[in-house]
Amino acid sequence: KNARSTGERYLFYAPRMNAALAARLALENELQAALEAHQFELHYQPRVNLDTGAIVSAEALIRWNHPEQGLVGPVSFIPLAEETGLIRPIGAWVIDAVCAQQAAWRTNGAPMVPVSINLSAVQSAQPDLLPTIRSAIATHRVEEKYLEFELTETAVMNNPDEAARNLAELKQLGVHLSLDDFGTGYSSLAQLKRFPFDFVKIDRSFIAGVDTNPEDAVIAAAIIAMAHSLHLRVVAEGVETRGQLDVLRSLHCDEIQGYYFSRPVMPDVFEEMLKNGAALPPPESGVHYHI
Ligand code: C2E
Ligand code: MG
Ligand code: MG
Ligand code: MG
Repeated sequence: KNARSTGERYLFYAPRMNAALAARLALENELQAALEAHQFELHYQPRVNLDTGAIVSAEALIRWNHPEQGLVGPVSFIPLAEETGLIRPIGAWVIDAVCAQQAAWRTNGAPMVPVSINLSAVQSAQPDLLPTIRSAIATHRVEEKYLEFELTETAVMNNPDEAARNLAELKQLGVHLSLDDFGTGYSSLAQLKRFPFDFVKIDRSFIAGVDTNPEDAVIAAAIIAMAHSLHLRVVAEGVETRGQLDVLRSLHCDEIQGYYFSRPVMPDVFEEMLKNGAALPPPESGVHYHI
């Protein structure tokens, strides 16, 4: 009997369908629906300058406000969005939402700081990325200097020539660029000097042990010194403790981001932080670290 002609084909194969594949297909459909149902939201994590203690920017981090599961983090859905191409509309939504948020903060009289947007490798290679950014900038009348784009070291090194072209075009817009998760790939900063980055973000995995593990401290010190010699500013990601902060200060790191100062927060909370002049306390005198 011919299963196709009786419409039984799907039923026949369905029980054999790999459970993981079925779950992926379900998630893909859910992601598409989530975008249409406005279930994504952005939280903002402040970055502070280590000389002044002041908030100097924020990173926009996507969350999925799932009707049953509550807030779902990006590691649970961004990889699939990249594989399926859904990162394109989701990424365009992020760019527009950040610009809309900047306009709202401006209207509310909050001091303006740049906001950084994560770009996946897939997004940075899309021909419609620049038009998407330009249109969001124009719609919400946001100055380019108040936007920053983050690309991971891995994304850049996967296709360095293409990345160089895309980054040069982005840079020409007048936005800031940062190299995210540095240290997790296998490139040296010297290889990266041909890309027009303004900031290097040291990956959290090296920051975790910076005050307890001499190897991490040596790596962080080397990245900071090399970045400075290439005229790049350095951000330490994932700073959670006072001990890590003190070491990073002694290594002349420029900025920190992490739970020690603040978790990613809702837009209204970030607005209050900006208005209140929330800042990192100054260093205790007499604390010296020798690495
Ligand atoms: P990322 O760009 O490296 O972002 C930093 C991640 O570290 C965030 O995780 C942040 O919440 C977390 N983090 C910050 N400070 C600390 C800390 O002190 N301790 C610890 N344990 N974690 C800290 P999150 O929000 O889960 O995002 C994970 C990744 O998802 C991001 O890593 C980024 O690669 C990606 N992502 C987030 N939002 C977007 C987006 O809008 N578009 C794209 N393409 N990717 C995004
Ligand atoms: Mg990032
Ligand atoms: Mg990072
Ligand atoms: Mg990361």
